[in-house]
Amino acid sequence: MNSRYSLNLGKPFGIKVSVHWTFSLLIAWIVFITVRQGLGTTQVLMHVFFILVLFLCVVLHEFGHSLTAIKLGGKVKSITLLPIGGMANITEMPENPRDEFLISAAGPMVNIVIAGLLWIYLGLFHTVDTDQMEFTTITFSNFPVILLAANLFIVAFNLIPAFPMDGGRLFRSALAMKMNRLKATRIAKDIGQIFAVMFIFAGLFFNPFLIIIGFFVFLGAKGEYEMMRYKDILNNYTVKDILMTDYERMDENDSLEDAAEKHAHTSNRGYVITADGKYAGILTKNALIKGLSVYGKKGRIKDVMNENIESVKPDMTLFDVYKNMQLNKYDMVPVKENEKFKGVLDIENINEFFMIQRAMNNITS
Ligand SMILES: [Zn+2]
Repeated sequence: MNSRYSLNLGKPFGIKVSVHWTFSLLIAWIVFITVRQGLGTTQVLMHVFFILVLFLCVVLHEFGHSLTAIKLGGKVKSITLLPIGGMANITEMPENPRDEFLISAAGPMVNIVIAGLLWIYLGLFHTVDTDQMEFTTITFSNFPVILLAANLFIVAFNLIPAFPMDGGRLFRSALAMKMNRLKATRIAKDIGQIFAVMFIFAGLFFNPFLIIIGFFVFLGAKGEYEMMRYKDILNNYTVKDILMTDYERMDENDSLEDAAEKHAHTSNRGYVITADGKYAGILTKNALIKGLSVYGKKGRIKDVMNENIESVKPDMTLFDVYKNMQLNKYDMVPVKENEKFKGVLDIENINEFFMIQRAMNNITS
């Protein structure tokens, strides 16, 4: 999720928590529905308050996943709240099936605990008789009952085995105890996508949120499986296997016009920029186009090149580099050994390498 479109809420346990702007649409929708039902101001606010408390439960659910992942050696960057739920951005995930099982189960467990606490509260302190309770709108007396039910609903919905939802992850980790992880992911992905199509269909008749969730699940399943395939192949190679040594060079004092002119005659996607003959940074095609629109033809390459791209080492696995490039949105990275510049790695080259290796594997296996 792009943080530009999110409101920052804080950084407990080092995890950035933010709420996506579309969340305001959910609040607007709740207000719209309740006003149309003819409810008074207090009751409308009560519904909004309920949604906020419910999403607090969703955040706690994501913390369940995140803190368990961290405890098991993973890394979590952020948690983003969307109208359809929370998303924890776990950048490094422990991969043995048992750890994955625990991480996936920890989220729903949090909601079970919340439901349990509400149940105890209702039994001990809430004197209202639930048999007599009205449930057409949310009131002070039925608030904890509905919140309890909503938490149980979150548990039940998340446990649907629609990968990459929690239930689907539990399913994959159970499969991965019996077979290799790639195969387990493919089966979980196929089943996840069947559920996604069912969500989209059901959404057309019942609740439009299901349509959005369906698309998220469908694309999420595809994306994770693709990543696994990359990993399966690229983990067998290192940077030096596809190191580019015949790169195009330009000087940092060359103009953007020079770069544009050169670009018209090559198929390069980026240039190695030098200062006094030594590596100084990378100029990608996108940075060049952006630079031309900001500085014009007379702009200097050094104004738009990226000098801060972390270099990689020749013996790093291709997958680690690929993952890092995806995460940071790098098109090209410098390769250095003992501080000495060796060449570059281009994301398109990695993609092509992957496709060629995959095609060859399909024939031989
Ligand atoms: Zn979850």
